[in-house]
Amino acid sequence: CGIVGYAGTAPAQGISSSPNQRALEVLVEGLRRLEYRGYDSAGVAVVGAAGLEMRKKSGKLAMLLEELESNPLPDASTGIGHTRWATHGGPTDANAHPHIVDGDALAVVHNGIIENYAALKSELLARGHSFKSETDTEIAATLLGDIYSRLADSTPAEGRLSKAMQQVAQRLEGAFTLVATHAEEPGVVVAARRNSPLVVGLGDGENFLGSDVSGFIDYTRRAVELGQDQVVTITADKVEITDFFGAPGEGREYLVDWDA
Ligand code: GLU
Repeated sequence: CGIVGYAGTAPAQGISSSPNQRALEVLVEGLRRLEYRGYDSAGVAVVGAAGLEMRKKSGKLAMLLEELESNPLPDASTGIGHTRWATHGGPTDANAHPHIVDGDALAVVHNGIIENYAALKSELLARGHSFKSETDTEIAATLLGDIYSRLADSTPAEGRLSKAMQQVAQRLEGAFTLVATHAEEPGVVVAARRNSPLVVGLGDGENFLGSDVSGFIDYTRRAVELGQDQVVTITADKVEITDFFGAPGEGREYLVDWDA
């Protein structure tokens, strides 16, 4: 239902007196702004020096915040967040996003419906994968992880997640905004969209993703709207757009002029 993504600067190593919680702050504020859309669960995943970690809860954002209070996330420079409106599988903790796959290294959130999830699920079961939720999203996430780990033999870590995202997007039918971050590519968030909206927020030394501009309006008004069937890769200082086959693409840049 609501999606946020964030890529900032890595936290300073060894300066424990200045914790960098900006990734989490941006994600939570973005989810708060997106609450107006309605939702039944919420979750976040961050990647920092300590690797990838995730917290998710069914119920209101307050439930997630409680969980974050009692079970805090480590400092992080990158992350993704989601408010879910269940379509496949009830509103439980397990069905909430992010979904974590590829040996706890890859986190994925998704808006929309993967129409061919049943066929993909059979294929993944035959390949030895198992599932923790009843969602269509976990099928897409598992396929992304499967493609990512197979690319590991032939592709350097840098750019692997974008390539895997392009390949998974080619195979998904229906409506999706799919957003992912991987522990092996810290600082990188990748997203793909088809029949479901996605906007990039351009910051200064940081970049944002949102299912709409509410996801980052507190931080920047410079936005880039993605077109149909595009993949975007953001880092703290870069935004790269391609189609599902890796050919360079462009979004429509504009200034958000409404009062938030
Ligand atoms: N179909 C997905 C699910 O049920 C995503 C729903 C959404 O857009 O929030 O988990």
